[in-house]
Amino acid sequence: MENEFQFDLERYMSQKNFERIKEFSQDKETPFLVVDLKKVEEKYDELLDSLPFAKIYYAVKANPLEEVLRMLVRKGSCFDIASVYELDHILSLGASPDRVSYGNTIKKSRNIAYAYSKGVRLFATDSESDLRKIAKNAPGSRVFFRILTDGSGADWPLSRKFGAHPDTIFKLILLAAKLGLEPYGISFHVGSQQRDIGQWDNAISTCKYLFDCAEAEGISLKMLNLGGGFPATYISPTHETSVYAAEIIRFLKEDFGEELPEIILEPGRFMAGDAGVLVTEVILISKKSEANQYSWVYLDAGKFGGLIETLDESIKYPIYSEKTGPVQETILAGPTCDSMDILYENEKYALPASLEEGDRLYFFTTGAYTQTYSSVCFNGFPPLKAYVLEK
Ligand SMILES: *Cc1c(COP(=O)(O)O)cnc(C)c1O
Repeated sequence: MENEFQFDLERYMSQKNFERIKEFSQDKETPFLVVDLKKVEEKYDELLDSLPFAKIYYAVKANPLEEVLRMLVRKGSCFDIASVYELDHILSLGASPDRVSYGNTIKKSRNIAYAYSKGVRLFATDSESDLRKIAKNAPGSRVFFRILTDGSGADWPLSRKFGAHPDTIFKLILLAAKLGLEPYGISFHVGSQQRDIGQWDNAISTCKYLFDCAEAEGISLKMLNLGGGFPATYISPTHETSVYAAEIIRFLKEDFGEELPEIILEPGRFMAGDAGVLVTEVILISKKSEANQYSWVYLDAGKFGGLIETLDESIKYPIYSEKTGPVQETILAGPTCDSMDILYENEKYALPASLEEGDRLYFFTTGAYTQTYSSVCFNGFPPLKAYVLEK
């Protein structure tokens, strides 16, 4: 009647690698994140191998740990930054400013001026006001224009807030040239953890349309920025990287032919996600009533401790226990005194019924959008610690 606990560990990491992380974790107080640096490097190589003509601008926000950034600087990666703080951070780790793109479309004039003074010459924009600020504070710079996408098909959509309609973008391109900037390219983001590859097709077609409109006005755009959206390995299945690459190449050739513009990628989740394991401990197991079929399992990591992407249960992390035997359907919650600090309630994770207080649970694929999302001191809990395994 009851099912045995099952977990396809090899889907997320090798048994050997898990043993290594477990051993490293043994004497450390939970909760914490362990990041396997080699895995980030592998993902970088994997993406570049499958789209060798592309330039990678790592989205620093996904995981800005120093070791991660240093390794990417060494490998020759470029960087997509969103603030002057990320800019200072990446420059201090040895990246030259010509490898930095200021990808945030929401910028203060003085921050644009600061980035310009540090040597940054590539800026994203999606509005007239921002464009005028760039023209004034970063004269002559290259600008690329972000088109709106609706984020459908993505587990963590980035829709509505960023980008503008193609007609508006076209006007911005003309204005940029008038303002003495270099209209350089078009960008989009199809939504994070995008599992529908067809979303790139629609966006690339819109870009091609804008390239043609600009060309008709004597403006040659040179760059196409395909954004992020490439997936990490969570519970919901996704295509292999090679399938993403093959499809995207097909879409590009359909629209642009053999002579592709300069292609930029801005992977974040794809690069860092699979490299992280969040180690947590069961604090309490309880039932709301004797007849209730679900047990509540309260952990020492929750929404305020790095797992905010469980909002609306959008990202479903693979959760591993070393206990075995029959399963019990559980509701998982964090340790704070906020009732929104529930991780999964609709999705009932089937965990071993033998799970006890004090046992550890391992959240796989937590290398992206976790540590920096954790709160400073809510309920007195410190931010999530992170360790990097460099070998
Ligand atoms: C967050 C972000 C990315 C990274 O997105 P992923 O889906 O994590 O790869 C890329 N580009 C921009 C502009 C972003 O804001």
